[in-house]
Amino acid sequence: MKCSCHSQKQYTDCCKPYHQGEKPPNAQALMRSRYSAYALKNVAYIIRTTHPNNSDASTPQEQRAMQIKEFCEQTLFVGLEINDFTENAPFATVTFTASLMQNGQDASYTEKSEFEKIEGQWLYLKGMLI
Ligand SMILES: [Zn+2]
Repeated sequence: MKCSCHSQKQYTDCCKPYHQGEKPPNAQALMRSRYSAYALKNVAYIIRTTHPNNSDASTPQEQRAMQIKEFCEQTLFVGLEINDFTENAPFATVTFTASLMQNGQDASYTEKSEFEKIEGQWLYLKGMLI
């Protein structure tokens, strides 16, 4: 099976190891693996790779899990393009365009995401639509 992050690689050679607990080597790999986790409805991975200072982290976990699951179920993850990636450890930014469809309508967006590496694990801190 091809990976849902649209890398054209096989899932086993791409995001699967990260979904199974291996730490992504950089924020770009983490970002891709979060995208494919959304596509695969892997809610636990999304929560586990979100920075504790992310604004969503203040939402009770159960409610948050339900919101993520609903988003996954209502969305088709049709494409991902990485436009820019800069790393200045322990921080990094990834600018990407996510091509999404919701209810038959284009719901694509471009976001500049910020990441921080904590104890060897890159985490999604926040994003800004651009
Ligand atoms: Zn992948």
